[in-house]
Amino acid sequence: MTEERLSFQAEVSRLLDIVAHSLYSEKEVFLRELVSNASDACDRLRYAALTQPELTAGDADLGITLLVDKEARTLTVADNGIGMNREDLVENLGTIARSGTAAFMRGMTGDAKKDVSLIGQFGVGFYSAFMVADRVEVLTRKAGEEQGWRWTSDGKGEFTIGEADGAARGTRVVLHLREGDDEYLEETRLSTIVRKYSDHIAIPIRFGAGESVKTLNSASALWMRSKSEVTEEQYREFYHHAGHAFDDPWLTIHWRAEGAIEYTNLLFVPSMKPFDLFDPKRAHRVKLYVKRVFITDGAEGLVPPYLRFLKGVVDSEDLPLNISREMLQHNPMLSKIRSGITRRVLNELGKKAGDPESADAYATFWENFGAVLKEGLYEDFEHRKELLKLLRFRTTHGDGLVSLDEYVGRMKEGQEAIFTISGDDAESLKKSPQLEGFRARGVEVLLLTDPVDEFWVPSVGEYEGKRFKSVTKGGADLGRIKAADDAGTPKPEEPPADALDSLLALFKLTLGSSVKDVRRSERLTDSAVCLVADETDMDMHLERLLKQHKQLGADGATRILELNPAHPLVVRLAERAKANGADPDLGEVAWLLLDQARIVEGDPVPDPAAFARRLSALVAKGLA
Ligand code: ADP
Ligand code: MG
Repeated sequence: MTEERLSFQAEVSRLLDIVAHSLYSEKEVFLRELVSNASDACDRLRYAALTQPELTAGDADLGITLLVDKEARTLTVADNGIGMNREDLVENLGTIARSGTAAFMRGMTGDAKKDVSLIGQFGVGFYSAFMVADRVEVLTRKAGEEQGWRWTSDGKGEFTIGEADGAARGTRVVLHLREGDDEYLEETRLSTIVRKYSDHIAIPIRFGAGESVKTLNSASALWMRSKSEVTEEQYREFYHHAGHAFDDPWLTIHWRAEGAIEYTNLLFVPSMKPFDLFDPKRAHRVKLYVKRVFITDGAEGLVPPYLRFLKGVVDSEDLPLNISREMLQHNPMLSKIRSGITRRVLNELGKKAGDPESADAYATFWENFGAVLKEGLYEDFEHRKELLKLLRFRTTHGDGLVSLDEYVGRMKEGQEAIFTISGDDAESLKKSPQLEGFRARGVEVLLLTDPVDEFWVPSVGEYEGKRFKSVTKGGADLGRIKAADDAGTPKPEEPPADALDSLLALFKLTLGSSVKDVRRSERLTDSAVCLVADETDMDMHLERLLKQHKQLGADGATRILELNPAHPLVVRLAERAKANGADPDLGEVAWLLLDQARIVEGDPVPDPAAFARRLSALVAKGLA
């Protein structure tokens, strides 16, 4: 019989090194991982057998068996599921395919103590067997195939694969226990571990062989049990298993829909953001079952893409069992289930959002998934109203999150619009010159920092009759809003109107087609100048985004330059314009101020050399 020796992928070797040398105190999680794999293997076989019943011929009672041999000091985890052939073994038990394990590798810090505690959190799948075993053998035969295979490894960089004749269908993982790990030969210990981590597994987990077989778990699908029978702990373990997750659920939603169509749902909102949330495929992670039989992961159309952060199970009583994954999408039942799920999930999120006690928890959810939820505002008109209630914003008032209702509730007298400003992050947005006039009047502005904001805001347009309006676009509309301290502080001194008009005219003439207009600003109080977009032009931030993503050529719309008439520099310039008319120095200042406004906006300066030359020349004059 030939046996081949192969090397583990480098990452696996690194992982195994940590696993073997860790003094991780809860090593028992290895059993959770192996049982979880065995259960998945049975689910996959049951699905395959829907169309190929011969696959389970002779042994249709799918289950998991734990066997111990005290003399040989081995613990065996056996299943009669789908099994693996040679290629499967190389691929699955030689590389890191699983997302949880990959996340574990990314999370590693190099600090042994911290890294070890990560094992318990992430689980490291099959490889966790090496926490308790110094040698692991896998005997397996794939359903529908004749040839069986033996895989062995001592977890030190290499493994072997050879043919194994007479292997039963499914997989037996034999652990040669390490010195000191004899506890995993005791039935009571194994039984406790199974009940702690694996009670939710829907197929039986048995202990022993022959006469003395005992079933250790409840062996009924967890989602079919009534809520009152399921503990928090069990929900959590189920979430880890079904969702291949390593965090805890942020929200658990378990209910049965009864009526025209019947289905049971056990859905979870994670407490951590998965790394592939913004993958272009926008796939969800809900498993579809039909009458307890696993059909598929991430069935298209089962969950709207903007709720793709959901994990868990939907089990339908009405869908045909032999439905192919391809036909599923077109089944009208599926869209009914989707509406039901959507309504329920939005309703549950609404309860959390509306409960002041949950404000902190809701903020966590919002930071993780708010940007995804917003996609629903332009994709799902039917639920727009509910979605708008779920929105939260950072604003110019404080650091907390604000709902649209709160915003509208504290709008100023005379304020008609919901003001917004878009950019990459809240902290730098708060420093935008365009906000100065709003701040002076105590007018709150929403800080929009998600790229998706550029899509839903124009699509939604208004909230409670108040339209959304960017403060970097068009007129500032501040005239009608009373300044917070109108009575107290005296108005800052402005140049006479004719002087300012001469300055504006001179700037316009100098800057020509580089600007759309030059005008006096209502929105500035501290800065001398700023750029704004014309009412009908594209928002400046959106234009930058599109350019970054090469959706737009280098040249965009020209902007309006606004001057703050109360700024001492503008006052001086206006006086000079009135006295001297077309003074060449004033022309140079016009260009300098335009570049300055571009810099503050984060726009490139088209001719940096000219900018530097002008700046040096003027400073030199000033110093002379
Ligand atoms: P995960 O279960 O998250 O995919 P694991 O490291 O636990 O990661 O397992 C790796 C892969 O090995 C599984 O995805 C599966 O394809 C295969 N595998 C492990 N155990 C079994 C088993 N008992 N039967 C069939 N395939 C298995
Ligand atoms: Mg696994």
